[in-house]
Amino acid sequence: MPSKEPDKNAAPPLPEPLRVPVADSHTHLDMQSGTVEEGLAKAASVGVTTVVQVGCDIHGSRWAAETAAAFESVHATVALHPNEAPRIVHGDPDGWSRQGAREPGGAGALDEALAEIDRLAALPQVKGVGETGLDYFRTGPEGKEAQEASFRAHIEIAKRHGKALVIHDRDAHADVLRVLKEEGAPERTVFHCYSGDAEMADICARAGYFMSFAGNVTFKNAQNLRDAVAVAPLELLLVETDAPFLTPAPYRGRPNAPYLVPVTVRAMAAVRGIDEDALATALASNTARAFGY
Ligand SMILES: [Zn+2]
Ligand SMILES: [Zn+2]
Repeated sequence: MPSKEPDKNAAPPLPEPLRVPVADSHTHLDMQSGTVEEGLAKAASVGVTTVVQVGCDIHGSRWAAETAAAFESVHATVALHPNEAPRIVHGDPDGWSRQGAREPGGAGALDEALAEIDRLAALPQVKGVGETGLDYFRTGPEGKEAQEASFRAHIEIAKRHGKALVIHDRDAHADVLRVLKEEGAPERTVFHCYSGDAEMADICARAGYFMSFAGNVTFKNAQNLRDAVAVAPLELLLVETDAPFLTPAPYRGRPNAPYLVPVTVRAMAAVRGIDEDALATALASNTARAFGY
């Protein structure tokens, strides 16, 4: 079908390089086009010299660990995504059409999958456990129990291995904060694609949680995110792409990749009214501290 906007799927242009290199604290290289080498080279060419590759299921977590072992500039996190855990327990007749519908596996299947995440979490190149957490946007009430059980198990795994915890929180702020409190959060906890407001940023700041901002901080309707960027302590700020999702403005809707981090860094610097280099310096050291590399 002919498109009115032939550019819609084209990769956005390279931004001007950052003078101080930073890390993309959350990306999915396995969902992006091109090779890993190409993606890393393109990112490094604009000052994004480190990436955290995030696993969302068993296959993706193994891939993240293998990729981090192969590339100096890649660190891995491993997990069952909050929307993956209920699929493992209850099956997923609508999804996975290309692979065939998944048979329900029950709680035993979830335990088995968690045991593999636990094994991967022990690897030295795996710096975090996540993304885990709660997602009430994509998972309905029937999946809530499996999702929360999986979240609690991931918290335990992160603490036992001394790894960072990477939180995915979609429309579930209060319950995510509650479960963290009940379980006791790991020493290093990162809210990926931070989606709360300034008030929640205060709560996170008091708990010492890192807040990682993605390209949606540039969206017109995201004033709550800019308010949070403005009030969060500098030493708890991270930046990420969550690529291939959440491409920053003015490239919204086009494919995202780690090389677009500078666009979001500049938006964050503008919100805080600080120099881009000063922000980049803080982001780089915060990410290293959060993930312990
Ligand atoms: Zn996420
Ligand atoms: Zn993600």
